[in-house]
Formats: sequence, structure tokens, C-alpha cells
Amino acid sequence: MVSDGLQRLEQDTRALAQAAGWDICIGFDDCPPLSAECPACTQPLDRQWQLRIWRHLPADEQGEALAHELGHILVYHQGLSRLQDTVDEVAYDLGKGLVNFVGHRLLIDILQTVYSIRSASHLQLYRGILEPQEEVYDASEEHVIRVIQGLRLWDLARTAPDCAAQAEACALQHDDSKGAFDAAKRYLDDITPEMAPNVMRARVQLFAQATGCCLPRQGSFIAGPG
Ligand SMILES: [Zn+2]
Repeated sequence: MVSDGLQRLEQDTRALAQAAGWDICIGFDDCPPLSAECPACTQPLDRQWQLRIWRHLPADEQGEALAHELGHILVYHQGLSRLQDTVDEVAYDLGKGLVNFVGHRLLIDILQTVYSIRSASHLQLYRGILEPQEEVYDASEEHVIRVIQGLRLWDLARTAPDCAAQAEACALQHDDSKGAFDAAKRYLDDITPEMAPNVMRARVQLFAQATGCCLPRQGSFIAGPG
């Protein structure tokens, strides 16, 4: 299961993380939230990346899932950590989502071109979001949930171009999702780890303004126009 590319990816990612004072711990288990639908996850804890893979995955999919999580850590330390700093004060889920979604196309591209690792399982699983959007029962949460749905659909559209038209049609189901999809395309599409921090910040602010998720001025999060 451990390909040459995966070995190199792990070495490079560990070296970059260590240079920033971070450690990486990799485990295989079957505790929540790990499942067939969520085959891998990574949590930061005390400058340690705790990377977990669902241990029931077939071996080749374990390799892909591990590569995907390492890819997130790699692009983070290549410079998306600055995006994290920019969005730290935005509502938790949106901030986390932004870093995650902006990172996907970058990491999928690096895995393929530098390490010859494909992302077929991730994209296959991700296509599952092209379902009719679920009802949201908590009205106070609805706006930010729809914005995140729009972001996720933008992410799918740019990582799986064959799904782009379908993803956009899916975003159209709700004004806030469509608004987030369009704003992400306009303001977030060309963010790279190398982008200057002030430019990154300006882009996130433009995105936040366009979607009614304004960045807080005094620690409060303002979701939506209403
Ligand atoms: Zn991911």
C-alpha cells in the first residue's frame, strides 16, 4: 500500500511541519467520526496534527485517504496557514471550511503532479453532495449553513470539472448557496499559499461582504442580512 510517492509525501510534509514546530501523529482506528462516509480526519492539538484513518478501508483507499490528509497539512504549512490566521475570527465552521475548501484543488494538484497520487476516492465520495439540499431546521444557523453548502459546491466544481455544471445547478437551489458559489468563484479561486497575507485577507473580506458573513469587528459574528 505504501507507494514511493506516499513515502516521499510523508517525508516532505513532516519536514515542513517540523520546521514550523509541528509534529504529525498517524493512527488507524474506527472511532467516530470515522466511517465509510468520513474515512479520514485531522485535528490539530498542541502543535500536533492528529491524523486518523478509518481502519476498515481497503488498502489502496487507505493510501489515498492518508495522502489527502497529508496534502492538507502540506498546503497549510506551504502558506495556507496565513488564510487560517485571516479567518480565525469568522464563525468557526465557516473559517474551518474556507481553509479546507481553498486547499482542496491545490493539494489534489500537488498529489497528482509531484507524488503521482490520484484522488479518485475523495472525488467519488465528494460527488455525494450533489443531492437535493437538506432542510435546515435551526433558522439562526441557516444562513451560514447555506453559505458553506455553496462553498462546498464551488470546491467540487473546481476539483471535478465534469461535475461543474451540476454543482452550479445544485447551488441554485438556494439564494445564499448560489451567492456563496459565485463569490467564491470571484474572490477565492486564485488564492495560493504564496499569496501575500494582506491580499488573502482582502479576498476573504470581500467574500464575507458578498455573502453577508461580515468579519467581526469586536468579536461578534454577523451572519446574513437578516
Ligand atoms: Zn479534504
